[in-house]
Amino acid sequence: MPLSRWSSRHKKTFGKKKEKWDGNFRLPPKPDSYYVETKGSCRWCGNTILNEDGTINTRKTWHEDCATEYLLIYHSGEQRAQLWNRDKGKCNHCGCENRTWHADHIKPLVEQKHVKEEDLDWSYYSLDNLQTLCKKCHRKKTNSEVKLRGKKKPVYKKWSK
Ligand SMILES: [Zn+2]
Ligand SMILES: [Zn+2]
Repeated sequence: MPLSRWSSRHKKTFGKKKEKWDGNFRLPPKPDSYYVETKGSCRWCGNTILNEDGTINTRKTWHEDCATEYLLIYHSGEQRAQLWNRDKGKCNHCGCENRTWHADHIKPLVEQKHVKEEDLDWSYYSLDNLQTLCKKCHRKKTNSEVKLRGKKKPVYKKWSK
């Protein structure tokens, strides 16, 4: 989706108080910069947006890359579009090509459940952690994950003295 088409939709969140994160690990909390309207500063990473000549671009409030990253996390349709661009619907497990492909998180997002805001592992939300799976392979993977979770208690690594 071109940046211009959706960035205006987000204007209404400008100046709003940052909401307390509800702990939904599927939708991680947005950074403080998301809520502050500063011309020429990115709502995602908070850094300055520069023109090619090095001056500050005061017309923009998103870096292209940051917008892509943002959309990957918060817009499921855009997430599918980005995954399609990379995999073209080909199952990463069995290699079949199917119209009803699924988007799967390689490291399951549920592992971020109950993780505190400051301890969230953002690699879970990256395109690198997404793969295309056919319906069959996706079901298999999900089933085995549920089994694993049922058996294993979470292991918390601690530094031993
Ligand atoms: Zn940025
Ligand atoms: Zn498959």
